[in-house]
Parts: sequence; structure tokens; C-alpha cells
Amino acid sequence: MGMETMRDMPVIDRDKCQGCGLCVSVCACGALVLVEGIVTAVAVDECRWCTLCELVCPNNAITCPFEIVFESGQDTA
Ligand code: SF4
Ligand code: SF4
Repeated sequence: MGMETMRDMPVIDRDKCQGCGLCVSVCACGALVLVEGIVTAVAVDECRWCTLCELVCPNNAITCPFEIVFESGQDTA
């Protein structure tokens, strides 16, 4: 008990992330930080699944697979 628990978090593609920090600045929960120029999720429990990080990322490096699909019709199939 009291161990770290895995739960859904935005998925980070480290190859696409260019370390611009936009996602970090929009995350109101402090769930994201930049580590050596690549975004890293550090506070999983703080993530409110607002999906802002996905929305602001210019490189599609961070995605929220749990989100409700937007009207624009993202389809990963
Ligand atoms: S979904 Fe929202 S709360 Fe969670 S990491 Fe992204 S910006 Fe932060
Ligand atoms: S917004 Fe995208 S490219 Fe910028 S730090 Fe976040 S994940 Fe990386």
C-alpha cells in the first residue's frame, strides 16, 4: 500500500518532443516538467486530464488517449 500506482497519463513521444515547454506552461497541475529538454510526466496523480498539453503541442508529441474525441474527428485507426 502506498506504492506508486500507474494510471492513465498523457502519452509522450520523446522522439517528437522538441522541449518547447508549451505543455508545461499550460499544465495547471504541475504534472509535467522538462528534463534535459524533453517533457516528462512527474506528477501523475495531479493530472486532471484537461488535455491542454495535447492541444498546445505543435509536434503532436504528447497525446491524451483517454480524451473524448473532438469534432474534428481524430481517428487513430
Ligand atoms: S492533461 Fe492537463 S493536467 Fe494532465 S498533464 Fe496534460 S495539461 Fe497537465
Ligand atoms: S509542447 Fe510538445 S514539443 Fe513542446 S515540450 Fe511539450 S511535448 Fe515537447
